[in-house]
Amino acid sequence: MSTASHFVNNLRFRSKLRVDAELVFDTAWRIGSGREGPTSDLGVLVDPFGVPILPGSSIKGKLRSTCEALAPALGLTACLLNVAASGRECASDVKWFSRARESHKDATSRGPASLQEWVDKYTCDVCKLFGSPVRAAKIRCSDGKLVDPSVAIIQVRDGVVIDRDSHTAAEGLKYDFETVVAGVRYKVTFELEDPTPRDEALFGAALFEWAAGSTLGGFTSRGLGRFHLDDIDLRGVDFANPEEQRRYLTTVDPEKRWSPRGDWQEYFRQKIEECLLSRSS
Ligand SMILES: [Zn+2]
Repeated sequence: MSTASHFVNNLRFRSKLRVDAELVFDTAWRIGSGREGPTSDLGVLVDPFGVPILPGSSIKGKLRSTCEALAPALGLTACLLNVAASGRECASDVKWFSRARESHKDATSRGPASLQEWVDKYTCDVCKLFGSPVRAAKIRCSDGKLVDPSVAIIQVRDGVVIDRDSHTAAEGLKYDFETVVAGVRYKVTFELEDPTPRDEALFGAALFEWAAGSTLGGFTSRGLGRFHLDDIDLRGVDFANPEEQRRYLTTVDPEKRWSPRGDWQEYFRQKIEECLLSRSS
């Protein structure tokens, strides 16, 4: 393949997958602002109107760590951004990549096919989905869209600093922190571009985990941040299908633009089964 056609081929979307869901907090939760709040020592992240926000970057970070935890069970690799700890060579480990720069340069000089081979070899299965310094992410997570802002009430709680040695409250070291009350729902959207069967198996396993319940944000060891996914809707577009392609290119409403892919559990169960079979053979 010529350099130009290789390049164009890599730019062209072949398929996309989209999942819409509601992320429901079952307990109080906090995603910290890293600053003092208006009424407490540790504020939560809010928009200019004081409404708590759930950034796509927080969702994506949590999704990544869920996938890292699940990857071994699927027979997939996860570098954990630390080659020394995981034993999986991956360009996402900055230290490892700085040592591998010569071989990367070498592969680049031998043309796009050789570079592609290098990138595939030195990208773990988790980074294939979430991106690395040498490879664009295939997954996108939207910011959460608050379903009912009137219920997203911020409360202030008391905390104490625990002395690590005596395991008792350190005298005089009291602080308070903001949380958002339980029951808040956010609409979230995930989009996968040209997912491979492995990408889909990994993402699907994470969806099952989140639908069953997981944690997000700060102070989860104190029982904060329990959430689950609800109302999961799966859609896709296959650009090799002229009907789906035309609909996607000429429609605004997501419900009509994206073609249904049936029940999400059915769909991803099959991908996970296939992944397990292919890894065990
Ligand atoms: Zn990696």
